[in-house]
Amino acid sequence: MTRQVRLEKGAYQIFEVLYFCRNPFRCRMSVIMAYHAWPQDNISIECGVCDICLNYNGKRREMNIYEDIEHMLRVIQALTAQDNDQIIPDDIVDVFCQARNAKIHAKRYNELPIYHAFKPKFLKTKELALFALTDLIVRKLVQHDIILRKITPTTTTMACSVYIIGIASNALEEAKNQNWMYRLKN
Ligand SMILES: [Zn+2]
Repeated sequence: MTRQVRLEKGAYQIFEVLYFCRNPFRCRMSVIMAYHAWPQDNISIECGVCDICLNYNGKRREMNIYEDIEHMLRVIQALTAQDNDQIIPDDIVDVFCQARNAKIHAKRYNELPIYHAFKPKFLKTKELALFALTDLIVRKLVQHDIILRKITPTTTTMACSVYIIGIASNALEEAKNQNWMYRLKN
């Protein structure tokens, strides 16, 4: 294994750990169980004792965000099908959230039918949408690339970029069978 491949593998592991730590929306036990489950196992039990379950019990409701997830997969499919530039997570989230910023206009994303197709029902903030996209990557329903580059030729400091390549071949089918319960504000 070359140094570059080893570092990129390491970067992905850090990415996964950050996902587990930053997750404010899903029962920690069910995240870990889903991670170790076989694809056909349907895990939908909330543990009731982790910090997410305890802190948000009563303040947030368990909601099935599958419809939003399906739309996000379709956004990814549409954006990655165009062969212009590299797609970063921010592009996906902006189109998904129907953002109206300079980049959306510059890249003409607002002219795509997918931009107007659906208004998210649950993932209404960029933070939530970005978390769901990370969830899709960790579940291997979305293919991504992590590129490490030296910030300058002489330094050992590396910068990390994530690019979105596309959805897994069976992603839409797979997603239907998985647990998409998120604990969100009422
Ligand atoms: Zn829990």
